[in-house]
Amino acid sequence: MIELKNLCKYYGDIRAVDNISLQVPRGELFCFLGPNGAGKTTTIKIMTGLVKADSGSAWVAGYDIARDALSAKQRMGYIPDMPYLYDRLTCAEFMQFCGDLYNVPAERLDRERTRLLELFSLQEQSAALVRDLSHGMRQRLIYAATLLHEPEVLFIDEPLIGLDPYTIRLIKDLLRARARGGMTIFLTTHILALAEDIADRIAIVNNGQIIAIGSLQELKAQHPGINTLEDIFLHLTGHPANGGECR
Ligand code: ATP
Repeated sequence: MIELKNLCKYYGDIRAVDNISLQVPRGELFCFLGPNGAGKTTTIKIMTGLVKADSGSAWVAGYDIARDALSAKQRMGYIPDMPYLYDRLTCAEFMQFCGDLYNVPAERLDRERTRLLELFSLQEQSAALVRDLSHGMRQRLIYAATLLHEPEVLFIDEPLIGLDPYTIRLIKDLLRARARGGMTIFLTTHILALAEDIADRIAIVNNGQIIAIGSLQELKAQHPGINTLEDIFLHLTGHPANGGECR
């Protein structure tokens, strides 16, 4: 469902994405990890058609994003780390707007909007303006709106920022269930425990390059003597496991 071939994106001298190739099959929950500035968001922006690659190709749901962006976008959902919502719409209007963008039929839109607002505990905010929502409520609304058109591939940049423990559990269960149901999920996170918890496979990127890829068990097997994902991450990305102040 996702195929990257020798993908490159440079900003001047910065190699934001440096020859990345990978494949993510249908129904896989794939976690993309890396330090700040490693190239995670740039890679997602290329796959979602927001940034053009300098070379290489990105295929999503069977479509080349550079040549057939609309077909790819119709089949994907994207939850950015800082989502843009329209402040002067109500939650229900925002959902309607998103459903219309994806040509969700009116009857299904009505039904799914009600179900998703309930699922994310936003039914009481249905008529509230987006600008009056708390940060966590805005995050929940973007999840509800993104799931409305049943994307085949879901990209999420930092899925748990600003969410309370109940919503974190809800999102984790939902992502696992959706992946089991065939949705392909590609997410970035700095919360390594989340990747340990839910990922089928993990890639670690550094300086725009994939430096490790595999299931948690495979990563551990590749690094005998290192027992946690955190230690593997720190070891591979060359960051000291324990800063001077803590010693
Ligand atoms: P973080 O974990 O901090 O969100 P990231 O892994 O998502 O980081 P990117 O945002 O992809 O990293 O950035 C990769 C590199 O590309 C960084 O060095 C960043 O400064 C640079 N970069 C990203 N976007 C631009 C841009 N529009 N113009 C110039 N440089 C950019």
